Amino acid sequence: YGKTESPTVVLVTGGTGLVGKAINKVVNEDDAAKGETWVFLSSKDGDLVDRSATEAIFKKHQPTHVIHLAARVGGLFHNMAKKVEFFRENMLINDNIMECCRIYGVKKLVSCLSTCIFPDKTTYPIDETMLHNGPPHDSNLGYSIAKRLVDSMNHCYKEQYGCQFTSLIPTNVYGPHDNFNVQDGHVIPGLIHKCYLAKQKGEDMVLWGSGTPMRQFIFSEDLARLIVWVLRDYQEIEPIILSVGEEDEVSISDVAQMICEAMDFKGKLVKDTTKADGQFKKTASNKKLRSYKPDFKFTPIRQGIQTAVDWFVENYSAARK
Ligand code: NDP
Repeated sequence: YGKTESPTVVLVTGGTGLVGKAINKVVNEDDAAKGETWVFLSSKDGDLVDRSATEAIFKKHQPTHVIHLAARVGGLFHNMAKKVEFFRENMLINDNIMECCRIYGVKKLVSCLSTCIFPDKTTYPIDETMLHNGPPHDSNLGYSIAKRLVDSMNHCYKEQYGCQFTSLIPTNVYGPHDNFNVQDGHVIPGLIHKCYLAKQKGEDMVLWGSGTPMRQFIFSEDLARLIVWVLRDYQEIEPIILSVGEEDEVSISDVAQMICEAMDFKGKLVKDTTKADGQFKKTASNKKLRSYKPDFKFTPIRQGIQTAVDWFVENYSAARK
């Protein structure tokens, strides 16, 4: 990387989303990226489900490197109701990207998987070797299988064509530019939006479920720095989990409390225990990451939440919600 004759052009699919925007920010502050061209794609630049639209993007930008983030994503309910579409759209997007990377001679492709695609019945902590060890949770079967195939195909492309295609596996991501939809968003952005509304209306903030489940959250800009590192320096085809350590797991209750403090919400935080909790724990191991990056400093969650809350309040009218 960086020692090539041709100019470096990095194409980021899904460049307008939570993770894409964070990479954009990190790259703008990175001296090593000064001589490089970074292209951040929106779905408006072309629907990646469509093969000819994808080819047109590769012809136009002639990327040497690709970070592939674009995906059909959605909350639990949506995933359960639309398994066929979640499989087909993601499978087509991923196939178009991988095949165009091969045809157009891309030197490295980094695709994004997710810890939610691991086997439902497993031992903890989850690590990179367990990805295919059993069926995923039935609720997101379509999404999970499409994502798992990326890892399988990375190996096939390496073996048959010598392609340098790899993947990374983040835990729950949060930060500015998230989807703050209360019904369909992830837990942190959903709670931030709820807290904002409760403060505006002078009402209680209601947390769905008992608040006891434990989760690992990674701040989007930390993930972005690690993704740029994977692009530049990680040489394996095997995936790598990008997560805070097992000791940094926090309960949903603690997260809700931190959000109330960051929002300066003085009302009551109440729990609606008639709502489902989801899995109690799904701890992932970041041992492999630590073996490569022992000194990487993660943003403390309190500080990351403050940044996300401040961004949401300042950008309320434009935020996805
Ligand atoms: P977002 O929903 O914030 O962004 C999705 C991006 O994909 C947007 O830029 C969107 O474009 C683009 N996109 C969606 N469909 C298409 C399409 N058919 N053609 C072209 N572009 C499309 O996602 P995140 O940033 O949260 O997620 C990025 C990646 O990280 C995904 O692969 C996701 O599976 C993975 N991930 C996310 C986690 C999280 O907690 N958020 C956790 C683990 C993994 P536009 O907005 O312009 O329409």
